[in-house]
Amino acid sequence: MGDDYRLTTHLVHAGEHLKRHSGGTPTAMPIYATATFLHPNSAGLDAAFERGSREDQFIYTRYGNPTVASLEAAMTVAASSRGAVAVSSGMAALYLALLAAGTPRGSTEPHPRHILAAYDLFGTSHALLRDFFSAQNVGLSYCDVTDLDGFRAALDRDEPDVVLVESLSNPLLKVADIAALAQYTHAANARLIVDATMTTPILHQPLIDGADIVVHSATKYLGGHADVSGGVLVTRTGLMLDTAQRYARLLGLGLGPFEARLVSRGIKTLALRVRQQCANAQHIAAWLRAHPRISRVIYPGSEDHLQHTLAARQFNGLFGGIVTFELADAVRETVFKLMDSLQLVLPATSLGDIYTLITYPPISSHRDISAEMRHAQGISDGLLRLSAGIEDVEDIIADLDQALRNL
Ligand SMILES: *Cc1c(COP(=O)(O)O)cnc(C)c1O
Repeated sequence: MGDDYRLTTHLVHAGEHLKRHSGGTPTAMPIYATATFLHPNSAGLDAAFERGSREDQFIYTRYGNPTVASLEAAMTVAASSRGAVAVSSGMAALYLALLAAGTPRGSTEPHPRHILAAYDLFGTSHALLRDFFSAQNVGLSYCDVTDLDGFRAALDRDEPDVVLVESLSNPLLKVADIAALAQYTHAANARLIVDATMTTPILHQPLIDGADIVVHSATKYLGGHADVSGGVLVTRTGLMLDTAQRYARLLGLGLGPFEARLVSRGIKTLALRVRQQCANAQHIAAWLRAHPRISRVIYPGSEDHLQHTLAARQFNGLFGGIVTFELADAVRETVFKLMDSLQLVLPATSLGDIYTLITYPPISSHRDISAEMRHAQGISDGLLRLSAGIEDVEDIIADLDQALRNL
């Protein structure tokens, strides 16, 4: 593949039809439903083990599989990275990223000492830090990553070795200035992990801005069709890639070949889908803003969004497919009634699908967070998150309209 192709072209072709041999090369990467691979003789098998199951020297699917490698190759190019590791979920990718980022050079101890994380992380990411890492005596502290002075003070105070942020936070859509955060993180001798699930490679390339590891839940935009669970991490350096690959094999976190093919198929249309989702979200945000029952609309494409200028600079002229809004004077029952009245918009706990989805964070992504912390984060009892799908936006708006009338 020519390195000078643009991202959209790479997403269609990268990792596919790698070699054209005489028998006719499959255009689309086949699903290699096999646990093991044969070699011409024992010396060949020995050589494959020696090379560590790379490229076409496959041995055993937990070490590597051509269908999975094809997805990893595509994500490597899409993220301008040294390499990618495809795993079974976004949470597996995040766990692996924390282990890899927390393993100092020259060490094999996969144990961060102190993690500094953004306040408003995805709920399960919070729970992972608290119930797994903190429970194993890893230091843990939080900061508001939109306050750069506060962030620098937290780096000085806590001396973390790993920093974890989301490029666009969920559900409050705060925008992190990744270039600035990476610069300060590196000056403090720490490593920066960016969960870029919400922005995808179409909006943003955090590795180019200096992030060390980028994590995606492939269950969301990359897969995009609500039919697969997966995760991918990409790294800026070969060292962290090797570490992540080693732990993925040790822990058996790898994605299976069937799922890998669904994600590969998804990312071919990623650019088309995301652009449509962003356009739909922009329309929906404008419509909600004018609605009398809606007290607050959060969308980075709106000029009153606190980081609108940063979003405009950092996200390739797009503002994402998620709109967060607040139903005026709402209690949980009002929100339930709204959600139950929707006919087209699906009340499913995910985002980034072709289907427009609506979720209520207090019962889903932020269920594990105490009410006090939720409220402190700005997640009120009337707050809903809508993930724009690719349907005709007029139909989405008509559905929201009839459900709001029904309240
Ligand atoms: C969904 C999500 C995850 C977790 O991904 P899974 O594939 O569900 O494990 C992590 N981070 C963000 C921002 C998410 O939206």
